[in-house]
Amino acid sequence: MKIITSINEMKEIRKELQGSVGFVPTLGGLHAGHTSLIEKSLEQNKITIVSIFLNPTQFNNLDDFKNYPSSIEQDKSILNLLNIPYLFMPTESEIYPYGYNYKISESKDSKILCGKYRSGHFEGVLTIVMKLLNLIKPTRIYLGEKDYQQLTLIKNMITDFFLDTEVISCPIIRDENGLALSTRNMRLTPEEKVTACLFAHILKNESDVKKAAEEITKLGLKIDYIEDWNSRRLAAVNINSIRLIDNVEK
Ligand code: AMP
Repeated sequence: MKIITSINEMKEIRKELQGSVGFVPTLGGLHAGHTSLIEKSLEQNKITIVSIFLNPTQFNNLDDFKNYPSSIEQDKSILNLLNIPYLFMPTESEIYPYGYNYKISESKDSKILCGKYRSGHFEGVLTIVMKLLNLIKPTRIYLGEKDYQQLTLIKNMITDFFLDTEVISCPIIRDENGLALSTRNMRLTPEEKVTACLFAHILKNESDVKKAAEEITKLGLKIDYIEDWNSRRLAAVNINSIRLIDNVEK
């Protein structure tokens, strides 16, 4: 696997690539949710590029950024096992050489749900994804339904800016207890994990949104929101200092 760290190298390599390119952007801390996207890209494209970049501009909370789990060596082994030809792993100064002055902002769907609780989060997400799309120029980008609001915003940005990349949305991968896989799950204690599974269970099984909120609150979780949006029910909760999101089809 070729590890690319500089923008210039990424540009040079991209110029030489022929055929379809699938792209899977990640923050690292890879798990089976990520590998499901990567496997789909491998199936559908001649070449797959995975990026690992813990993008600081999308973290509205410094502690969350500092405590975000990282497992670079394990990530590299996973990608090697999958036979990924290119890992793009830029540094912050490569991605933001002039600081963070130019931003992609959205004025409607980024202000609700997670956007209401994480000021500037989606600006950071859309800006990094736009930068990566301009560099990698993928035929297809693979995004998880786990981050349903993010998926919707990126899809709409790609359409709105006439970009030539197809968005492939991928279903949520859950563990055997129904908990949506997330890098942040690594920070949960065994007790917190049990509570997180109960949260996922309630979100899936309680059809009355008010009752669901009551049951989740009874678990001792702080709810940011639980709301129906675009034929999905989405929720964000805080288990002590760890924020989890999930959604189910309605
Ligand atoms: P992240 O590293 O958390 O930014 O995630 C990178 C990509 O993987 C995003 O498109 C996520 O939506 C997707 N992803 C994360 N967790 C899951 C999951 N449990 N199932 C499916 N996709 C996921």
